[in-house]
Amino acid sequence: MTRRVLLTGGAGYIGSVVVDQLVAAGAEVVVLDDLSRGHRVTIPARVSFVEGGIGDAAALQRAFAAGPFDAVVHLAAFALVAESVANPALYFANNVTAARALVDATVAAHVSRFIFSSSCAVYGHPAALPIREETPLAPINPYGETKRDLENLLAERARRDGLQSVSLRYFNAAGATERCGEDHDPESHLVPNVLRVASGRRPALDVFGTDYATPDGTAVRDYVHVADIADAHLRALDATVTGAAVVNLGTGTGSSVRDVVRTAEGVTGRAIATASQPRRPGDPPVLVAAADRAAGLLGWRPRHSSLREIVETAWRWHQAHPRGYTEQTPGG
Ligand code: NAD
Repeated sequence: MTRRVLLTGGAGYIGSVVVDQLVAAGAEVVVLDDLSRGHRVTIPARVSFVEGGIGDAAALQRAFAAGPFDAVVHLAAFALVAESVANPALYFANNVTAARALVDATVAAHVSRFIFSSSCAVYGHPAALPIREETPLAPINPYGETKRDLENLLAERARRDGLQSVSLRYFNAAGATERCGEDHDPESHLVPNVLRVASGRRPALDVFGTDYATPDGTAVRDYVHVADIADAHLRALDATVTGAAVVNLGTGTGSSVRDVVRTAEGVTGRAIATASQPRRPGDPPVLVAAADRAAGLLGWRPRHSSLREIVETAWRWHQAHPRGYTEQTPGG
């Protein structure tokens, strides 16, 4: 098991779960996060924390001084598609230019393994389903372009510097653990927004597109429990890889927006009002992963990703944190 890990974005939704699993597996973890989108309260007191940006030379120096590290796990990024369309420069600056500084520092510190949070957004509108890793990359928004660009950079660094990397192309992360849940502002993800309607924080769920060529007309996505996503990172740390590997993290099963709403009504026992809205530009009708490479390369299989478990765990967290993380104090 890899022992010492520098984890960027560890104060975020997925990062906080990766922290918990690494600590539980006995790893020493240093979190580097600028708290631009994360929550200081999620970082456990016993985990070292460097507050700063991945593109900030002084912060990188402080973080790598806490090494040596066996690996860098890089989750820090901006991740809102609509914001990336409105402000592409912000996304290229943070997700590519700043990330390049992190990769440079990783190579300079002789850390040989880099795990990267990529996304199914690299595929755009795939011609064939389920989506295999060999599918040509054709992102349709700046967010997806930034993920493709960093994957390309990692491939180049594998050739030039021998940096081993695993880019994990997550499909839709969802669900919660007892300690960690999803609390973004604005919240663009379906499950927390459905639960906000169930708990009365929002009057109705906007359903963008009800006339797709899908069984019920709403968009279909591949939802993966955040604990399963985190587990793949631990496996990627120790997997046998040469060069720059890319791996889908999906279940191979799609759920529509209406499937999620129906499941949430069953779990919460409450009616969830919906409001039909036009399709959003750039939203593909169906995104479902072919998941066999993750099984073969990482020995990974989703164990918590039934829609029921995803919604149940998210609902439990939502009820325990009705106002998100705002009411908690750090290190708790
Ligand atoms: P998040 O916004 O909850 O967490 C991101 C964290 O990164 C935050 O704590 C933020 O403060 C930090 N951060 C951002 N820019 C930084 C910088 N320059 N320096 C230091 N810290 C910085 O996002 P998340 O949902 O946990 O996603 C984590 C990663 O997974 C992202 O890279 C995202 O693109 C990717 N991803 C997420 C999903 C999903 O469904 N949530 C799907 C595909 C890929």
